[in-house]
Amino acid sequence: MITASPLPRQPSSWQQDFASAITDPAELAAILDLPATWVPGARRAAEVFGLRVPRSFVARMRVGDPHDPLLRQVLPLDAELDAAPGFELDPLHEAEARRAPGLLQKYRTRALLVVTGACAMHCRYCFRREYPYETEHSDTGRWREAIAAIGADSAVREVILSGGDPLSLGNARLGALTQALASATRERGGLDSLRIHTRNAIVLPSRVDAGLLEWLRAQPWRVTVVLHVNHPHELSQDALDAVRALHGTGAQILNQTVLLAGVNDDPKTLAELSWRLHRAGVLPYYLHLTDAVRGTAHFAVDQSRGIEIVDALARELPGYLVPRLVREIPGEEAKFVVAAGLRRARY
Ligand SMILES: *Cc1c(COP(=O)(O)O)cnc(C)c1O
Ligand code: SF4
Repeated sequence: MITASPLPRQPSSWQQDFASAITDPAELAAILDLPATWVPGARRAAEVFGLRVPRSFVARMRVGDPHDPLLRQVLPLDAELDAAPGFELDPLHEAEARRAPGLLQKYRTRALLVVTGACAMHCRYCFRREYPYETEHSDTGRWREAIAAIGADSAVREVILSGGDPLSLGNARLGALTQALASATRERGGLDSLRIHTRNAIVLPSRVDAGLLEWLRAQPWRVTVVLHVNHPHELSQDALDAVRALHGTGAQILNQTVLLAGVNDDPKTLAELSWRLHRAGVLPYYLHLTDAVRGTAHFAVDQSRGIEIVDALARELPGYLVPRLVREIPGEEAKFVVAAGLRRARY
């Protein structure tokens, strides 16, 4: 059941929430009443990829529980620094998919714009954790070449705004970006679809403000917002309000989840996540097997376990609430679907 959009919060308050994120492991330990013994290890791991977590997300964690599934997603660990065979910097060969600065195109009809390197939260399993954003993202002025390339390629029917998190940009910047896209594609008949991949809308719900909703409503294209939620505890009331407000713009809202050891690698958690998303008007889209990115080996779940989990979900949920288990295979023309329902019969 979708209820009316809640009143948006004060404009500009999200910038304060973004800036006041926790970045010091000792502060996180103090707030959550965690043993101070892991702080030195966290500091070492944070030198490679910094700790960053919004206070509203920390408020969704259980105090005194080092295994909290939300905490595990943001807590820098010494283990990230261990060398793991087969885990590399760019296992997806994204460098080969680069068409222009900040423009990744792996698939013929969809082009992905890396519009910023910034995220409200740093997820430890991130496959772009060591991405060279400084030289690569198509920030102001620099996205001109990327947009011209999209304008020149009439095979591209959908543009995906990604990052980092595109909602780390302000509403005015987003407006300038989509206007430039509209002008660049007008002559060849425009685009069919604008897609926005965001985790900020969930981890920093104040980001979904009146200006953002207005921007979404004003788009000349069908808009799809792909959220990124891994665990039902992430869906606090303010996050759900933000999702309903996004839904109220008429955008299609999907969710992608990363299958993470010790966070959500059990059918019960994922079934509950699907039901809660459903209540908020969101359909599960992808369940990603992690890529072999350096520093993330401790999150890896075997493909066979992933298939078992999706089998269990298929027995438990309406078909439309079962996410597709996917993995990325470099050079393929689409994401590879490992399972989308029952794979193993019981007889
Ligand atoms: C995942 C991805 C897409 C989108 O793929 P869909 O299967 O259409 O969701 C597009 N471009 C890149 C570079 C991607 O990694
Ligand atoms: S929000 Fe997305 S891009 Fe940003 S750190 Fe998390 S997984 Fe990576």
